[in-house]
Amino acid sequence: MDILLLGTGTSHGVPMIACECAVCKSENPKNNRRRASILVRTGSGNILVDTTPDFREQMLRYRPETIDAVIFTHAHADHIFGLDDVRVYSDRQGHIPCYASPATANSIRRAFEYIFTFPDIGGGVPRIELLEISGPFEVCGLRVVPIPVEHGGSQVLGFRFGGIAYVTDCNGIPDSSMEQLRDLNVLILDALRPKPHPTHFCLSESIEAAGRINARRTLFTHICHRLEHEAVNAELPERMQLAYDGMIVKDE
Ligand SMILES: [Zn+2]
Ligand SMILES: [Zn+2]
Ligand SMILES: [Zn+2]
Repeated sequence: MDILLLGTGTSHGVPMIACECAVCKSENPKNNRRRASILVRTGSGNILVDTTPDFREQMLRYRPETIDAVIFTHAHADHIFGLDDVRVYSDRQGHIPCYASPATANSIRRAFEYIFTFPDIGGGVPRIELLEISGPFEVCGLRVVPIPVEHGGSQVLGFRFGGIAYVTDCNGIPDSSMEQLRDLNVLILDALRPKPHPTHFCLSESIEAAGRINARRTLFTHICHRLEHEAVNAELPERMQLAYDGMIVKDE
C-alpha cells in the first residue's frame, strides 16, 4: 500500500485566483497546490479520499486506471465538488462504493440531488453507492479507521490506513482520537497558514499537535499561498515537512 498526494492545497488552491504574490507566481511546482485529496493504492484497488473541484485535472495528471472506492472527510465544497466527474469511472466499472459519515452523506445527497433522483438524465450521472459509516470498515482489502476531529464548529473525519493517518481540515483533536493516532509511521495533517484561523490549525498549532502525536514523520497539507515550500521546510522541526502534489508516501 502507498498513498499518492493528489492535492495539498487549501480551498482556494495555489495559485489563488487574481493573486500576484511570490508563492502564487512561483515556478517551483511544489508551490502549485490543487485542492486536498489523496489516493490510497492497495494491492487490490485504488481508494480516493475526497472528490475535489480539481478531481478531473488530478485524474488526467496521475492517470489511475480505476477508482474502486471513495471516502469523504466532510462535505465542504473543496472536498466534494468534483464528484460528478467520477462518472467516467463508474461508466466503466459500475457502481462505486462511497463512504461518509451520516452528516456528510446527507449533505452529499442535497448537493447532488440529481444523482439520486434522476439517475439516467442527460450525459449520465456518477453511479455511486453511498454508505454511511460509524466505525472502522474494510475496503480494497484494507482496514480503514475513521478518526473524528474538530473543524471549527463541526466534526469531520480523518482516516487511518495501517501506519498512515490522513487528517485534513482540522483545528482540534479530541483525546479519544489522539488514542487512535498512536504509533504512526506517517501523519498527514492540516496546516493552513502562519496566522491563526477559526477552522484550521495554523502552522504553529500543527507543529504542536504533530509533536504530541509524535509520528515518525509528519507531512503538512491543505496549505495556502502564505507558505512558500522551500523556505518553510528549511525552518520546520526535524521529521516534519510540507507535503506537495504528486508526493508518494509509504507506510514506513
Ligand atoms: Zn478543505
Ligand atoms: Zn498568492
Ligand atoms: Zn473544510
